[in-house]
Amino acid sequence: MAGRRNSGSKWLKSQSKSGGGEPKPERLLLIQRHVLDLTHSKFLSYWKRRQEGVAYWFGKKNVSDLYDVVLAVVVPKAYHSSGNYEVPVEETTRMGHMMLDVGLTCLAQIHTHPPGVRQHSGYDDEHAISTSESFLSLVFQDYGNIRAGDLEDITVHERRSGQWVVLGDEAKRQRIMIVEDDVDLRVGDLESRPRR
Ligand SMILES: [Zn+2]
Repeated sequence: MAGRRNSGSKWLKSQSKSGGGEPKPERLLLIQRHVLDLTHSKFLSYWKRRQEGVAYWFGKKNVSDLYDVVLAVVVPKAYHSSGNYEVPVEETTRMGHMMLDVGLTCLAQIHTHPPGVRQHSGYDDEHAISTSESFLSLVFQDYGNIRAGDLEDITVHERRSGQWVVLGDEAKRQRIMIVEDDVDLRVGDLESRPRR
């Protein structure tokens, strides 16, 4: 995660690799559309103040197959500024214990960046909440003022073999699947049954 100590060189180019040619992601994260939209909405108050925001996706990591499921968005108590955020250690610990009590694991961190800054800073690379293999770190551009319900303006970093890899568009969609959770086919209710 970003920290306030990160003022001088916060936008140094990340060590992450990007572009095509990266191997296909091994896991798939399933997230309901309303959870993605909820995450987006959490950042809007920080966007209005031109401050970075942070949230985490907790859920179930499936050990028997490669499908992980997001079940909750958690917004920690944190410091916010235009160039970074900082979650105090005690707040991270409190959050971890609360979620552990209900059996959920942190699957991804999400934070916002100023306009035009799409990728991790060097500090982000070193201070993510987790560096477990396949952990995800998402960056929303423009302090989160992005198109809702879509991965287009979201940069996805995945932890692979000890480093952060920026997923290209295809790999991003292979790694994160947005599940439509409001499927209403009525348009208009049927009024009378057809005669047989
Ligand atoms: Zn950052």
